[in-house]
Amino acid sequence: MAGIYLHVPFCKQACYYCDFHFSTNQKYVREMVEALCTELKLQKDYLQQDPISTIYFGGGTPSLLTGEQLKKLLDIIKANYVIAPSPEITLEANPDDLTAEKLEILYQTGVNRLSIGIQSFNPAVLNYLNRAHSQQQALKCFEDARKSGFDNISIDLIYAIPADNHENWHRDLDQALALQPEHISSYSLTIEPRTTFGTWLLKGNIPPIDEEFSAAQFEILLERLSHSGYEQYEVSNFCRPGYHSRHNSGYWKQEKYLGIGPSAHSYDGVNRRFNISHNPKYLKAIAHSEIPYEADILTNEDRINEYLLTTLRTKWGANLEKLKNEWSYDLLADQREYLDRLLTKSYAIIDGKHLKLTRSGLLLADKISSDLFKI
Ligand code: SF4
Repeated sequence: MAGIYLHVPFCKQACYYCDFHFSTNQKYVREMVEALCTELKLQKDYLQQDPISTIYFGGGTPSLLTGEQLKKLLDIIKANYVIAPSPEITLEANPDDLTAEKLEILYQTGVNRLSIGIQSFNPAVLNYLNRAHSQQQALKCFEDARKSGFDNISIDLIYAIPADNHENWHRDLDQALALQPEHISSYSLTIEPRTTFGTWLLKGNIPPIDEEFSAAQFEILLERLSHSGYEQYEVSNFCRPGYHSRHNSGYWKQEKYLGIGPSAHSYDGVNRRFNISHNPKYLKAIAHSEIPYEADILTNEDRINEYLLTTLRTKWGANLEKLKNEWSYDLLADQREYLDRLLTKSYAIIDGKHLKLTRSGLLLADKISSDLFKI
């Protein structure tokens, strides 16, 4: 099974924390959709006809596309790729784009999962982050999405906002849980260098993220979501039973995927490719039937380390037999002492063939993975 990711690199306005690839100049949206269609055709052999079980429109803001544009892209995929039965088709969307009419159209095109970038229900936080939507729009679009028939909705929430407090975070979680989404992705605010916040941090206009505050808010998140029946299946991702993101789980399990559009990544099971993160250069290359990418040839160590980094963040854990048989890394023998310490401190368990982190281990997932890296 494999997945297709389509990157729609346009946004109405720049959120101050965002370092994804996007442009606020929407002059080239139509041309970009044509280019995505062309790239889909040019890349049709990349996945070697593996059945496509997930399609993901990400960005940027794919909800800026019209229903006809989305349908056109899906039609090209259906005409050029083998589609598995009941594919998951996700669209990332911002609340200010999701009118009742637009939601009806999206549902008709075959989108069956929405990932709504709510981030917060608090007007002061939305303003601080420079989000384009209001609290009312977030609540209204969720209600309209349900009325249109969407029964698989994810919402995004951000925590650890400077100058915020635990009471407000509880209030945000109250609102989120009252909506009863099938899935919640929640990340700590991070300040990346190439963002507005990054510039402001350098100038001393905003404080750095307080790591202790962030950890305390993460604990609140874990507590509240587990009490409400959500399973933490990845460090930052939670779902009701059976509603994990099939697409993102494919990344974490190192399944193949094809990324279409500027800045999109692809993985063919052996190596990675990265499309250029520049809209005009991307459009120009595609107009000449060329795919503007850089290849990343992975070493055996790269594959092992990526595998540990992604799988140990998930509830499925790392398959010890796969590590040993495919990449000659016998974790049980080579890291015996370290593993014993993890097991003794209840940071991890060995469940059949898998090494899995416990809830307290997941808090240290990145550190534990890097300690186990093959170097
Ligand atoms: S809408 Fe999403 S992609 Fe666009 S700037 Fe905001 S966070 Fe980034």
